Amino acid sequence: MIHGSLSDLSEALAAGKTSSTEITSACLAQIRETDDQVGAFLRIDEAGALAAAKASDARRQKLSPLDGVPVALKDMILTAGLETTAGSRILSGFIPPHDATVTAKLKAAGAVILGKTNLDEFAMGSSTESSAFKKTHNPYALDRTPGGSSGGSAAAVAARQCFGTLGTDTGGSIRQPAALCNVVGLKPTWGRVSRSGVVAFASSLDQVGPFGRTVRDAALLLQGIAGRDPHDATSADVAVPSFTDTLEQGVKGLKIGLPREYFVDGMDPEIAAATREAAKTLEAAGAQVKEISLPHTKHALAVYYVIAPAEASSNLARYDGVRFGHRAKDAKQLIELYERSRAEGFGPEVKRRIMLGTFALSAGYHDAYYVKAQRVRTLIRQDFDEAFREVDVILSPATPTCAWPLGEKLDDPLAMYLMDVLTLPCNLAGLPGLSVPTARSSGGLPIGAQFLGRPFDEVTILRAARALERERDLSTWSPS
Ligand code: GLN
Repeated sequence: MIHGSLSDLSEALAAGKTSSTEITSACLAQIRETDDQVGAFLRIDEAGALAAAKASDARRQKLSPLDGVPVALKDMILTAGLETTAGSRILSGFIPPHDATVTAKLKAAGAVILGKTNLDEFAMGSSTESSAFKKTHNPYALDRTPGGSSGGSAAAVAARQCFGTLGTDTGGSIRQPAALCNVVGLKPTWGRVSRSGVVAFASSLDQVGPFGRTVRDAALLLQGIAGRDPHDATSADVAVPSFTDTLEQGVKGLKIGLPREYFVDGMDPEIAAATREAAKTLEAAGAQVKEISLPHTKHALAVYYVIAPAEASSNLARYDGVRFGHRAKDAKQLIELYERSRAEGFGPEVKRRIMLGTFALSAGYHDAYYVKAQRVRTLIRQDFDEAFREVDVILSPATPTCAWPLGEKLDDPLAMYLMDVLTLPCNLAGLPGLSVPTARSSGGLPIGAQFLGRPFDEVTILRAARALERERDLSTWSPS
């Protein structure tokens, strides 16, 4: 039962063929059995989960397709009464007084929240190794990374510990770990999902989104969290369509663009081949595939690593040792308290980002770095505007390589940053993007394909991904 899809579970629950208590207990048992090796979870709320399951079982009328379904949340997302750390020592011991809007929405939909998943500290990273607390392992190859920063959320779904999770994606942190862990990961359009109560990293880029083992599962979770929220002024007042109604429509007549610039130097040739293979499959299913160009792609990494750290340096100024989390002991003055709390509380990657961002915003450099980066960001967005005049969706590889051995890129920040080249242009442009499993490498590792869509057109990327999934069906491939 724990191996099936969320949507199948949902039907079984509605038909009374199983109970939420039974499935929640099975997931908790699976976590107990596998999480010593996988390390997906930072915290498990067994009592809370079983109470929610019992309440779900007692309801005569299901609240939604998520009612009774065991899920988990990246530890960037606030949970009232349950510690939330963003993977950082500076927040350890922080018990949120309220739920994030997405947490509240999942609870209102009847979902059972099992616990909080591991991540890179403040979601800064691509391997989940910068977490202050533990490392997460890829369930398909335990000596390798699950990707990051939402590595715990991807690994938990892959390891059959739960039926879906939420992550956050600022430069690829949902799509990249999804690709490395053989699961579906969706970053919605910027503004589609509320960020109220989600720890801020880079606010012009951050989005919350789902992981599932199938495209339909990701769509059901997105349905549960999407929509305008009065508590988040940046959430968009745009109607939320049904994300499942059109899922099986196929790709007949759909125009799909393959961007030349996404087949980068140094890419694993098997990944390039798998992407072209995916394009052929969709062509055979009736899509029109053509090569397109997104000429400013090569600047995206540099632009991101100015803008994201700049926004992070501002967002992270609030961790001062006074209001929440870690406070240095015995400081004699206020400035000393700030300095020591921050020096003790933040890890090396977070400090690197704060320094990069503070430098980029400082007097004399602001125009040369930050303003210029914003201008190039506009060019990147315009590339996509042009492309979407010709095509309906863009198909590309999701990552340049498969999962790499843990520790391999830890001493080389640039090598780590390069793992995001294919995912971050989408964030800079605010578009929806998803990664769907498309192949298994000769070494037995997962390979994902990325679909990018027009703003607020998640339905079309879901439909295209489903058409590919139907031909591939890698969702039944579980880790041994
Ligand atoms: N890996 C990228 C970074 O380190 C993206 C992280 C994310 O999307 N949260 O910034």
